[in-house]
Amino acid sequence: MATFARLPLLQLQPHPKLLKSYFHSSRIKFKLPNLYLSTPSQSVSPFRCFSSNVDQIHQNSFHNESVGSIVGDLLNYLNESWTQFHATAEAKRQLLAAGFHLLNENEEWELKPGGRYFFTRNMSSLVAFSVGEKYSTGNGFHVIAAHTDSPCLKLKPISASSKPGYLMLNVQTYGGGLWHTWFDRDLSVAGRVILRTDDGSFIQRLVKIKRPLLRIPTLAIHLDRTVNQDGFKPNLETHLVPLLSTRCEEELTESKEKGATRSSKAWHHPQLLEVLSEELDCAIADIVTLELNVCDTQPSCLGGMNNEFIFSGRLDNLASSFCALRALLDSCSSPGDLSSEDAIRMIALFDNEEVGSDSIQGAGAPTMFQAMRRVVSCLAREKVGEGAVERAIRQSFLVSADMAHGVHPNFVDKHEENHRPQMQKGLVIKHNANQRYATSGVTAFLFKEVAKTHNLPTQEFVVRNDMGCGSTIGPILAAGVGIRTVDCGIPQLSMHRQGNGSIGVGS
Ligand SMILES: [Zn+2]
Repeated sequence: MATFARLPLLQLQPHPKLLKSYFHSSRIKFKLPNLYLSTPSQSVSPFRCFSSNVDQIHQNSFHNESVGSIVGDLLNYLNESWTQFHATAEAKRQLLAAGFHLLNENEEWELKPGGRYFFTRNMSSLVAFSVGEKYSTGNGFHVIAAHTDSPCLKLKPISASSKPGYLMLNVQTYGGGLWHTWFDRDLSVAGRVILRTDDGSFIQRLVKIKRPLLRIPTLAIHLDRTVNQDGFKPNLETHLVPLLSTRCEEELTESKEKGATRSSKAWHHPQLLEVLSEELDCAIADIVTLELNVCDTQPSCLGGMNNEFIFSGRLDNLASSFCALRALLDSCSSPGDLSSEDAIRMIALFDNEEVGSDSIQGAGAPTMFQAMRRVVSCLAREKVGEGAVERAIRQSFLVSADMAHGVHPNFVDKHEENHRPQMQKGLVIKHNANQRYATSGVTAFLFKEVAKTHNLPTQEFVVRNDMGCGSTIGPILAAGVGIRTVDCGIPQLSMHRQGNGSIGVGS
């Protein structure tokens, strides 16, 4: 911890610290109308994960070998998680390594106090929870929810297309991306593939091609003289098409094979399938279905004069997903961590937030409610009392964690002057009278009390009245589950751009 003092800009007060504090604040009762707050009887022990060796991070900012530090671990998580599938797989790997039991939603659950569990849906959303040893039927859930998806380009079902002299990939836009930022980046593909196996069954595999495979070239200034005055306005159907290769290789191969095996009507370019089959160590014929995102190959890293920034794509919302995951893992890593807990600690990471959450793997599905109902009834067995689930939900609290807009140094007036979140000034609590965020006076108050108890700063955000307001999963879950919710997040710049946006280390 001593290294923090030497580098004031790296005053590590990260998001997971507050979220972990939230899990450790089970003595703070969220009861209405007799709301009261009590100070935890024991002070929270120093956070091992925050005793980062910052100097080591400096040296390894591009290699992220600073394992053991929260920042290094976040960078590694970001670099692993090119897609919503990979983000979920990495969370699953960490949960299994920490002794969490994988549940199957298709089977009967057996849960017990002190247990740690999780399940996934569609390989792209995940719910994990630990049961306090003092849990009794009707006690509440302390939940942190975030999302695993980010705006990106996704391959169309028939991706093969060509232009004079070039092989191209047809893509569809996903979410509200800043699409001009996808031009001139070193791109590749990653996602899920369904393979046919030797016995005729099918399996799902994740794949990631790490080398730059694709490029969307901009038009040279000489061919677009007014672009700087008029702005760059690409047509998303015709201009945003990634380039895979020239046709030379294809023409050579075709002339060798006399066109015998290469059909011009293939759904995907054989060259792409070949790269995938090499990576998956399977035959091209075994590849049945592709579900691939176009991804940036540039690694996440530290940057800025003092390495005070995290430069990364997909910060929205993998930074929150990582913090939620880490908060749960760290809050019940030792045998005694659940001994005095009387609630359920839960995290829920959803897919499809960027397109409105209405999917089976999105927050619009009843996943969280179903999980809560199953946990309550499973732990109660035959003794489920009247309204046990409803009582539990009324005693529960949800932290909806999604990224926030930090004030932009070159566009300061885009923020309302009294609500300009700044880097390294604490987690942002998001308010919107029109319920684009689910925060209420009470939930903001409760959350700030948790933060205050642990000497952690918070900031307030409300959008200008003359601008539209974003939204997130908070209102969807609050309305769908009936759970008290606060919307909060880490301030960042360049949200929804491709490539590297940034957050302050220690935000
Ligand atoms: Zn988000």
